[in-house]
Amino acid sequence: MTKKVLLLPFLLLCFVQFSVAQHVYCGHQRAMNNLANQVPSFKQAVQQTFAEAQRAAKANASRSNELLQVQVVVHVVHNTEVQNISDELVAEQIAILNEDFQSLNADQANARDMYKALAGNAGIEFVLATTDPDGNPTSGITRTATEVETFVDLDLDFAALLEASAECGLDFTCIQEKILVGGLEENAESGGVQMDDVKRSDRGGIDPWDTERYLNIWVTNLNIDFLGQSMPAILGFAYPPVGAPNWPDEVFEEDLSAIAGVVIHHEAFGKSNAGDGLIGNLADGGRTTTHEMGHYFGLRHVHGDGGCGEDDGISDTPAADAEQQAQADPENLPVCEDLYSIDTCPEDDMPDMVENYMDYNAITCQNLFTIEQVEIMRAMLQGPRAGLLGQQVTSTAEEIAATQGFEVYPNPTANTLNLSLTGYDLADFEVRVQNILGATVTVNVTKGNTQIDMSELNSGVYLVNLVKEDLQIVKKVSVLN
Ligand SMILES: [Zn+2]
Repeated sequence: MTKKVLLLPFLLLCFVQFSVAQHVYCGHQRAMNNLANQVPSFKQAVQQTFAEAQRAAKANASRSNELLQVQVVVHVVHNTEVQNISDELVAEQIAILNEDFQSLNADQANARDMYKALAGNAGIEFVLATTDPDGNPTSGITRTATEVETFVDLDLDFAALLEASAECGLDFTCIQEKILVGGLEENAESGGVQMDDVKRSDRGGIDPWDTERYLNIWVTNLNIDFLGQSMPAILGFAYPPVGAPNWPDEVFEEDLSAIAGVVIHHEAFGKSNAGDGLIGNLADGGRTTTHEMGHYFGLRHVHGDGGCGEDDGISDTPAADAEQQAQADPENLPVCEDLYSIDTCPEDDMPDMVENYMDYNAITCQNLFTIEQVEIMRAMLQGPRAGLLGQQVTSTAEEIAATQGFEVYPNPTANTLNLSLTGYDLADFEVRVQNILGATVTVNVTKGNTQIDMSELNSGVYLVNLVKEDLQIVKKVSVLN
C-alpha cells in the first residue's frame, strides 16, 4: 500500500474536521426543520406568534422597562466527568445572561456608534429557581448521569466518508454535503438519537420542569464522535414560542411544551469552561447561551436563514446573506475591525451588524440586541412565555394541589369570567385580578362571587388570584376586548 492511499483518508479527516467546524454553531434551523417535518403547521404558527408579538410590541411601545424576572432550572446531563460542569460555571453563565439582557455587558462599548445607538435593554433578569415543581427547596440545578455519548442526531462513519469521496472525487463541497445529509438520514433510519432526546428521561436525558413556569436549560454533549475524534457539531438550539394557550390568535393545537427550553453544548456553556477543546475561541464568553435565549424568546438569525431577500422580521437589523455569513473559523478568528467592512447585502446601504447576538459571524464580536429585538422578546415574555413571570414558581405543595381544582372559563374571555373551585369553599377566598407585572387591577370585595366582570380591562394576559390567609392560588387568563 502506498503512502498516497493512506494519505487520502487522513486529508479527508482533516477536511471534515475543518468543514464541520465551519458550519458548527447553532442548530436552530435544523431543529425547526425537524419539527416542521413532524408538525406541518409549525412554521406557520411560529410566524403567527411572531406577528402577534410585533402587534403587542407596537401597542405597548411606551411600557416601562421594568425588570422582568424569569426562574431558571439548569439540567446538567453528563456522560463524562468534564461534562458534569460545576455550580460555579452555571452561576457564571447566569451572570453573563443578566449582563447581556440588561445591557450591562462592558463590551457593548465596542460597538460601532451607528449600531450602539440601536442597542436595546431587554430588561430580563434570570434567577436560578429556589423552589422545584413539588414545592421543595432547590439549587435550580439538576444532575443526570447518562449512557448517551452525544445528543446529536448525526451518525458519521468512515465507510460513508470513503463512499462520498469515491463519488465526489476531491470536490469537498460535494463530500461534505453527502456525509452530512447521509449521516442525518442514516441516524433517522436506524432510530438513533433525536435532537430532543436530552429532554426525555426515557431517552437518556431528563424531563423538563413545568415549561410554562420554568425556563429549562439542558447542558450536555453535542459533539459527534468520528474515528475516535470528538468534533463539534452544534453548540446549541432552542425553539421559539408558539401556540401558547394564553396567547391571543391561538391557532395551533399541538402541545410542544415538553420540548420548550434551551439546549447548550457543555463546552460552550459559561466563560471559564475547562472543557472547551476543539471549539476553542469560537464559543468563548458564554454568548452561545445568549444567542439561543434570543431564539427561545422568538428572535431569528439576522440573516433570516436565507439570502438578502429573506428577512428576520426586525426592521432595525440590516439585511444579511446567510451563505456569506457562516465563516467563523475557530482556529483563526478575525479581529472585529476586519469584520466591519463585511456587507453581504450592499443594497441596503448598511454593513452587516456583526455586533448582534443573532448574527452569524464571529461570536466574539457580538455585544448587543437592537431596540426592536428587545421589544419582541419582552412581548413574548409578557405573552406566550408569561407563565415564567410571577409568583407561581414559589408555590407550596398545598397551593399546587389547590390550583388543580381551580378553573377559570371561558379563556380567553371578553366579558364575564366564571370561577370554580373543587376541594375548598370559594366563599372563603378573596378574588384579585393582577396584570402580568403584578399590579392589582380588580379586587372582588364580595367573597364567594363566582363571576368577575372583565369587560373594562384592556386586552392582555391577567392573573386571577384566590387568596385566603396563607393560601394563594393563581390562574392565567387572556382578555380579548
Ligand atoms: Zn441561532
